[in-house]
Amino acid sequence: MTDPRPDEPVPSASAVPEAPGAVPAAFEEVDTDQIPETDIVFECPYCGKSLSIDQRGAGLVIECTACQQMVTVPIPDGMELSDIDLPPEERETQLSNMRVVLGQAQRRVAELTEENATLREANSAAEKSFSVRNRRLNDLRALCHSLLKNQTEAAELLSRLRRLLDEA
Ligand SMILES: [Zn+2]
Repeated sequence: MTDPRPDEPVPSASAVPEAPGAVPAAFEEVDTDQIPETDIVFECPYCGKSLSIDQRGAGLVIECTACQQMVTVPIPDGMELSDIDLPPEERETQLSNMRVVLGQAQRRVAELTEENATLREANSAAEKSFSVRNRRLNDLRALCHSLLKNQTEAAELLSRLRRLLDEA
């Protein structure tokens, strides 16, 4: 890389090999050195981005800055939620955010209920087709058995016939 040629495209950042001990990409959004120790740092369950919020945000439902999904801020061990007083306008936001999450949860429950019914149907259909196949297999086995028996009998009859013909 001593003689840069203008014709060649500049290598993209992702093409450059990561230096040992580099900060993982998921943490790029949060520079841990600049976060106050009292902040809550957690990962978005939807996109995995590292998020940080003032400790007064414990238990709140917030919008992920990366994927815009509603996520619940974890409550740190030993923290009492009753110690936190939210200003009235934040309470309003919380109520509407929680309503969004409730709506999402209700839709998910409806989806899962439907999925469950579909799976149950597929399962009973599979069981039915299995028993049908099992019966067909038994029929085939019986046919093969009688075919083999007939073949043996036919071979015996043929050899008797040959012997009779030879003697004649
Ligand atoms: Zn996210």
